[in-house]
Amino acid sequence: MKILIDNGHGANTPGKCSPDFKLREYAWARQVAKLLYQRAEAAGLEPVLITPEYTDISLRERCRRVNELCDRYGADNCLLISLHLNAAGADGKWHTSRGFSSWVARNASAKSKLLARLLWENADMAGLRGNRSVPPEHYLTANFAICRGTKCAAVLTENLFQDNPEDVAFLLSDEGKECIADVHLASILSYINIVK
Ligand SMILES: [Zn+2]
Repeated sequence: MKILIDNGHGANTPGKCSPDFKLREYAWARQVAKLLYQRAEAAGLEPVLITPEYTDISLRERCRRVNELCDRYGADNCLLISLHLNAAGADGKWHTSRGFSSWVARNASAKSKLLARLLWENADMAGLRGNRSVPPEHYLTANFAICRGTKCAAVLTENLFQDNPEDVAFLLSDEGKECIADVHLASILSYINIVK
């Protein structure tokens, strides 16, 4: 199984940081993408970083890269995770919202929904619920291009809030990054066990 990892924004994407600038979404996502890559490889999977660049790659290009791999290896032999951090505001201030969520496109396949549900359940078990209310289906839907425009199972994870001080402290710690990489790997392994 090809594990396609999208680390979201680039260093030149405006905003996307904690109010104290200590946490930057592009840098965090690259660190966790690397941890997930290493874990997936050690587990015998075939990880691919679809955006190794540090600059922002357009969503159109990211979808093109994913779909090219889907065409080459078969969409059923690929899955996509897009790593992100959530934000409650865009005002450069701290907010109270905390916790993990996983998202699929409005036109998502059953496989995408399954992967999103496993991610949220594993995040919940790892204590990452925060103060969110968890929907019964364990995923949320939105019009995210990276999920909508790709052919394989595709989930975007919002890994806690970059404008909440407790979440930021956890996200900046080695423990936090490892925990979130572990949540993703455990979910991917469960997904593969169910669909194969
Ligand atoms: Zn993001």
